[in-house]
Amino acid sequence: VAQPQKATHQQTRVYNQQLVLRTIYDHAPVSRADLARLTGLTRTSVSDLVGDLLGTGLAEEIGRGPSSGGKAPILLHVVEDARQLIGIDLGDTVFAGALVNLRGEVRHALELPLDGADGDDALRLVNRLVEQLVAAADRPLLGIGIGTPGIVDTPHGTVRWAVNLDWQDLPIGPLIAKRFGLPTHVANDSQAAALAEYLFGGHKRGANMVVVKVGRGIGAGIILDGRLYQGDGFGAGEIGHTTVVDDGAACRCGSFGCLETVASGRAIVEHVRHLAPRRTDTDLRRPAGARPPELEDIVDAFQAGDPLAREVVLEAGSRLGASLAPVVGALNVERVVLVGAVAAFGEPWAEAVRAEIQRRAFALLARSTSIELGHLRANVVVLGASALLMTRELGLSLAR
Ligand SMILES: [Zn+2]
Repeated sequence: VAQPQKATHQQTRVYNQQLVLRTIYDHAPVSRADLARLTGLTRTSVSDLVGDLLGTGLAEEIGRGPSSGGKAPILLHVVEDARQLIGIDLGDTVFAGALVNLRGEVRHALELPLDGADGDDALRLVNRLVEQLVAAADRPLLGIGIGTPGIVDTPHGTVRWAVNLDWQDLPIGPLIAKRFGLPTHVANDSQAAALAEYLFGGHKRGANMVVVKVGRGIGAGIILDGRLYQGDGFGAGEIGHTTVVDDGAACRCGSFGCLETVASGRAIVEHVRHLAPRRTDTDLRRPAGARPPELEDIVDAFQAGDPLAREVVLEAGSRLGASLAPVVGALNVERVVLVGAVAAFGEPWAEAVRAEIQRRAFALLARSTSIELGHLRANVVVLGASALLMTRELGLSLAR
């Protein structure tokens, strides 16, 4: 956060408080002297600001550190359960939510099936989910973070367009904030996933990262210089609806041959269902009347070495890699992280993505980019929504 030029005294104080909290969060255990050195603030200011933080319960003293000659310094850390965060993932088939602490640990989780609801019904379901989580909270609530599909205007908390939910210009952030009296922040689900992997994923912390979420849909979240980059119209990372096959299959967005139609979980399922009846070498060929294979069945078959599953899934991986090569070329980030339901296919799928990126991207760039599986799996959007809330409300920034 750049310090404003004409900051009022109050703004300066909030800014400095967030700076001290962030520094404790990132460097704990730290002494007041460490904080003065790390933040550039005077010892007096630091003591004053730390006093405030101790008062709010966000930080606490945890004993004395090693002495460097004089009196051993008192060390501080952030109390990870001092607040609870409500993180919400508006998924394709279920709306999931959780109470999360300040270190991204899930304390309580629940899910409500979507059952095809959209429009006002879907919004009512979000209200119900938040209501149940508020009731389950046993610590002061910091607020609510929401990850939703679609194009999201994060500063205004408005979903500009979410096809599946049939939401257009829905001010979901202000609506939820008003109803529950809690600060509410909203981001696109892939962008939230990127925040989660960056903040809680345990990756070596660089400045730049692209997180690609491959589930029923495909989208990316882009972290540049330690911040979520949303683009001029909040659509940064919307790679799923770029045409990759001329005259290809119809896509749910109304176009044809989008990346989603060849590389998403939905595409994998449809491709397998289409091919299986004509193949004799696969367990995914179901007898008439049997339930058609779902993504989980294909994951099991893939891991058991089923030839059809391997063929379809690795092809989908290559298709994704072909679309990510220009992203690597455009951004030259050191790390591309793959998350979402399709990441359950694991390292062989990631290797198919990686091989295609290396084949297509400028060699020097491809060599210096690591393509890896995410660390957070199922909770990634819930945690990302929580990370969004933390960064916006406490100033716990991502950059080091
Ligand atoms: Zn599309």
